[in-house]
Amino acid sequence: MRCELAVVGAGVAGSCAAFAAAKRGLRVMLLEKKPLPRYKLCGGAVTRKTLELLAGEGIRLPAKIFHEVGRIKIYIPGAEREMQVKEGSILTTYRDTFDHALAREAERAGAELLDEAGVKRVVQAGDGFLIETTKGELRARFLLGCDGVASAVRRCLFGWSFPPGELGVAAEYEVPGLSVESMEIHFGYASFSYAWVFPKRDGATIGVAELASRLEGGIFSRLERFASTLNYLSSPPEPKAHLIPMGGIRRKVALERAALAGDAAGFVEPLSGEGTYYAALSGIKGAQLAVRALSEGGDLLPYQRFCDRELLPQLRAMLWLSRLFYFRQDFSYHLFKKSDLLQDVVTALARGRPEPQQLLRRAIVSSARYLPGYLTAKLRG
Ligand SMILES: Cc1cc2nc3c(=O)[nH]c(=O)nc-3n(C[C@H](O)[C@H](O)[C@H](O)COP(=O)(O)OP(=O)(O)OC[C@H]3O[C@@H](n4cnc5c(N)ncnc54)[C@H](O)[C@@H]3O)c2cc1C
Repeated sequence: MRCELAVVGAGVAGSCAAFAAAKRGLRVMLLEKKPLPRYKLCGGAVTRKTLELLAGEGIRLPAKIFHEVGRIKIYIPGAEREMQVKEGSILTTYRDTFDHALAREAERAGAELLDEAGVKRVVQAGDGFLIETTKGELRARFLLGCDGVASAVRRCLFGWSFPPGELGVAAEYEVPGLSVESMEIHFGYASFSYAWVFPKRDGATIGVAELASRLEGGIFSRLERFASTLNYLSSPPEPKAHLIPMGGIRRKVALERAALAGDAAGFVEPLSGEGTYYAALSGIKGAQLAVRALSEGGDLLPYQRFCDRELLPQLRAMLWLSRLFYFRQDFSYHLFKKSDLLQDVVTALARGRPEPQQLLRRAIVSSARYLPGYLTAKLRG
């Protein structure tokens, strides 16, 4: 088997990449190790900016796979705040149906999809790659590794992996039939993350995440402790866990003819854990640059520049925002009670505005404004 572009992994990054490259005329093979549709542990929150990005690329998704959430309840120790998602809404979905619909779109654009084809090894061969899969060998001129946090492409070609301080561990219960009206975010269950309840069509997903380096006692006991506080959850199902990479750190994501996108590259926004937008964006951009490289005889190094100059500043601003937030959570709660910062974060997630860098500036200005009042209250005891 031969192709111009091999895309490894039919998640969000891979299917978007395969769609974008096939629509521009490349011979693309999309390789997925699991049979599709495949289960993916995820809160399944999809922001409007993600759907706008997909629609702008020409990816069509059926409305019936989404559930619209208009309200968010934020719980901080000792307080609760409910807010409307202004300017649009946040949608939730099940990742098996969402990702399968994306893979179908990639096929519609002309990509050849091969599921149950796990990539075992990749080596440089001639002016491209030899890819060993569980369904045989494949040769490709260019390669995109969209194979998630434990990427085989990254292991074979890039030679780095995520240290524990740059990885989150998340666990979830998927509860069919549970009816919850608002999206819930609960702080106080993790030192560098949060717990959540996301309403879905015909059910809800309940989860918690923590930085791997700060996890003591296991993530499932954390999830159990959180779930025991939810009076509407009587008998939780089997929990599942997965890793989430932390975005905002510069990493090598492009070689001359290969690049990493999505979780494989570590593109997850560290404050909210949103990864689908960055997976779609990096997958589409990687594909567009592969098309250009093939037609002009160039390479994929412009992808590294795109990631460093456009993606990284957004993720890094959110990394600093999360460090600011989790550094002194009691002060952050004070800030959230006094200022409009929470609403700004929610709007930024739903609409992509204010931009992360602007959001970070606002957080710094608000911190400076509310710090004296907080310190005075602390000193008075
Ligand atoms: C518990 C949890 C909750 C989350 N909640 C949200 C949320 O609500 N909203 C949000 O935006 N993000 C969320 N995220 C993050 C989000 O799930 C990821 O960022 C996103 O799935 C990244 O997409 P991807 O395509 O890069 O990788 P993946 O979705 O992991 O897809 C990678 C694909 O590659 C395949 N693969 C792996 N190895 C191979 C191989 N060797 N050969 C072939 N195929 C291979 C896998 O089977 C998989 O299909 C959450 C993550 C976790 C763990």
